[in-house]
Amino acid sequence: MEKIISVLRKQLDSTSILSEEDLLQKYSHDWSYESPVTPKYALRPSSSHEVSIILKTCFEHGQSVVVQGGLTGLCGGATPREGELSISLERLNKIEKIDEQAMTITVGAGVTLEAIQNAASSVGLMFPLDLGARGSCQIGGNIATNAGGNQVIRYGMTRELVLGLEAVLADGTRIDSMGTLLKDNTGYDLKQLFIGSEGTLGIVTRAVLRLYPETPIKNTALCALGSFKNCIELLNYARKALSGSLTAFEVMWASYYDAVMTHVSHVGNPFGCEYNYYVLIETSGTNQDEELLRFQKFLEDQFEKHVILDATLADNLKQAENIWAIRDGVGELLPLCKSGCTFDVGVPIAKMEQFIEDVGVSLSNQYPDIQMWAFGHIGDGNLHLITDTGSKQDKENVYETVYKECQKVQGSISAEHGIGVLKKPYLKYSRGVDEVGLMKKIKSTLDPKGILDPGRLF
Ligand code: FAD
Repeated sequence: MEKIISVLRKQLDSTSILSEEDLLQKYSHDWSYESPVTPKYALRPSSSHEVSIILKTCFEHGQSVVVQGGLTGLCGGATPREGELSISLERLNKIEKIDEQAMTITVGAGVTLEAIQNAASSVGLMFPLDLGARGSCQIGGNIATNAGGNQVIRYGMTRELVLGLEAVLADGTRIDSMGTLLKDNTGYDLKQLFIGSEGTLGIVTRAVLRLYPETPIKNTALCALGSFKNCIELLNYARKALSGSLTAFEVMWASYYDAVMTHVSHVGNPFGCEYNYYVLIETSGTNQDEELLRFQKFLEDQFEKHVILDATLADNLKQAENIWAIRDGVGELLPLCKSGCTFDVGVPIAKMEQFIEDVGVSLSNQYPDIQMWAFGHIGDGNLHLITDTGSKQDKENVYETVYKECQKVQGSISAEHGIGVLKKPYLKYSRGVDEVGLMKKIKSTLDPKGILDPGRLF
């Protein structure tokens, strides 16, 4: 490793190589806090050219590297392993260009999601990817994990928002796929190789992203329902009646809602009694009166049909924030689960209720005192589940149990966060032997020495 560093010192500027112990702590783990390892060196290239120099040198010497964005990943993928060099993209943080006519933005991989949102907003446009880690996560990390977030039901995952990208392969070759066109059928769509590849096939260095017109008018409601069947009915009706403006449809099971009301001090319960399910619905658009009327009518209709048992429609920003605080209360619940397991599974909507029931029965037969909280973006088939048995030793078996149930319903063990290191043993429950075999072939073609994020994904 010392030899590689001395070769690199001759080619990079002095700020590109960090070796001071106290500065390196920051690069020792991602948000999963999975077995932190402080790297011996963190490399901070300031251009795609420098990324290329670093990888070419590492490739020649067979030196493995871990690629790091904002380190908000939840699967341990960006946490270094012993002997790896860290490559942080944090200095590729330039917003290169906004094209208002084409509605695109060109950025370096290290620009934070929030900076992109703000830049788009400054010209009356919007970048619709949004998630809780927006202030820290970087677009390169969002692309590498194909992040989802709050508005997938309307705008899709990160994949749908990337028009072009530049990536550097393990041997230092720079692939320029910085197209700005929505329609381009000239052979393989190479950018797709890197989207969702979790840093295993190349380092994303730049991207061209799609922007949308801003939709500043928001209407937010919290509805109470009696059955999951009603939640599906409500979703289907919302898709029709609120077509074009529905941006969030978040379902919370009573156990999750009650836990938030008990443990999260800054949220208020708008309802006087308890229900089985709660649904947060948000629409966004440009015409205040039209949007509000349509939304009110939708709620009234569903109330009359007894699909909704109770509802509260926010009539100011503070009330809307309180509704979102209930959904986002998970942030405060997580630290309470000292030996908890978190899941972001994908489950076909028709099988969701049964899935939760089966998981509940299976786990509580094994652990009678288990806590289990569920919520999810059900319109995207994405369920979040948090479980806690009170003992860390149970975690492996809990993961195994839930993922096996997931396989039974042809679900996905990760709808959003990716595989990284944490979910690697369970990939088999979502992807077949031939599929993983093909993934490995692609990996060995693009990275024949296996130096990029080794040991992640498979
Ligand atoms: P990192 O954590 O640094 O890296 C993640 C993976 O991508 C690693 O494997 C890393 O090697 C690779 N990588 C990073 N940058 C690059 C690059 N430039 N080129 C190639 N590979 C790279 N995720 C969702 O999908 N939806 C959510 O709603 C959501 N909410 C979250 C809320 C909170 C509070 C937190 C902490 C996390 C949340 N996440 C969510 C997970 C996380 O924010 C996303 O996975 C995010 O996309 C990771 O970006 P990052 O820059 O932090 O990547």
